[in-house]
Amino acid sequence: MKILRQHCTGDCRGRPQPACVSQSFTRRGSRVEVIISRIPASLCPECGQSFLEEETARRLENLLRPFHGTRGHVPDLPPAKIYIDFEEAGKIQRAA
Ligand SMILES: [Zn+2]
Repeated sequence: MKILRQHCTGDCRGRPQPACVSQSFTRRGSRVEVIISRIPASLCPECGQSFLEEETARRLENLLRPFHGTRGHVPDLPPAKIYIDFEEAGKIQRAA
């Protein structure tokens, strides 16, 4: 995914439209797959490329960090699939 732009990338002339997407995140060295649903994004109707706002990208990183760690430091966790609802997680973060 890339940061939201007014127009799509490269030669594509599509205009990304607001959408809610689900995405699976994996990381080299980690056996944990994190599936995050209801991510507010923009999708290009022409080529299907998805775009994120910076704030959304930051929040996604925060959600993934406990499972995928930071650069060069991946936590040693057993194989697992984690499902996170982005919208619900946002409510918890704000309430804390
Ligand atoms: Zn496009």
